[in-house]
Amino acid sequence: MAGDMRREFADRDDLIAYVRREFPQAAARGVEVSPLRGGRRAAETLLQRLDPRRYAASRNYLDGAVTRLSPYIRHGVLSLAEARDAALNRVRRAADAGKFISELGWRDYWQRLYARLGHDVWRDQEPYKTGYAPDAYAQELPQDIVEGTTGLACIDAFSRELRATGYLHNHARMWLASYIVHWRRVGWQAGARWFLEHLLDGDPASNNLSWQWVASTFSHKPYIFNRENLERFTGGVYCRKCPLYGRCDFEGSYDELTRRLSGYTQT
Ligand SMILES: Cc1cc2nc3c(=O)[nH]c(=O)nc-3n(C[C@H](O)[C@H](O)[C@H](O)COP(=O)(O)OP(=O)(O)OC[C@H]3O[C@@H](n4cnc5c(N)ncnc54)[C@H](O)[C@@H]3O)c2cc1C
Repeated sequence: MAGDMRREFADRDDLIAYVRREFPQAAARGVEVSPLRGGRRAAETLLQRLDPRRYAASRNYLDGAVTRLSPYIRHGVLSLAEARDAALNRVRRAADAGKFISELGWRDYWQRLYARLGHDVWRDQEPYKTGYAPDAYAQELPQDIVEGTTGLACIDAFSRELRATGYLHNHARMWLASYIVHWRRVGWQAGARWFLEHLLDGDPASNNLSWQWVASTFSHKPYIFNRENLERFTGGVYCRKCPLYGRCDFEGSYDELTRRLSGYTQT
């Protein structure tokens, strides 16, 4: 029972060793321990850094001014109302906090849907709009994705970062999910399970419904991206060192990629 668990530790190593002993199955899944610190003080430090105007201008870039508040919000260390109020206190015009607050709204929205759907968040909410039937999608995640050995510098880096830190930027989550579902044709549930194993903010509402949005089982079209889009929002850090640059799976216009990935009969 949670109430029986130790709460005082000599140091972080002591805490890590204790958690490993108490949760042997989780410990057996990997040796990585996220460097992220839990607790209210860490959450408040991040909240103090919140800059809603910079956030709005840069949130889609991997080095943009995102907050990394999600694990604290997820585990109730920080409420959505506190985050909203902090944003409003930081700006002169309320509208300047609008983008940040609307992202908080997404979390609230997914939670409300989860309250209604319960375990059904694991079921396709709608058919895939990809031209493929659900049984065309593999049920297991390929090992090269799990281990980060696909050869694609970006995908392998995201896979490693997910396992090592328990956090990924929203755009990286979208690219990785899209690669898994649309390029590798793996069912979104397999990817969602993998994310939930590692994400410190992992929760079935935001996670599964976002996966379904990418997959197109909860949106009107599949989310796909191309190399140009990824290169732009990453500042080229992966493409620059990728051995597949110029001939990778993401090369091409959106129209070409849509045709290549689509299961609809081409006319
Ligand atoms: C495939 C996929 C899986 C995801 N899985 C999760 C998950 O398990 N848990 C989770 O909390 N979020 C999930 N998200 C949403 C989003 O990626 C994260 O909330 C965000 O990246 C967390 O980083 P941040 O705190 O720096 O976000 P910021 O951009 O700084 O946003 C501030 C807060 O707003 C909320 N938020 C922002 N964007 C979203 C969003 N798109 N949907 C819901 N809430 C949002 C979060 O609580 C976040 O902490 C997922 C997105 C995708 C595409």
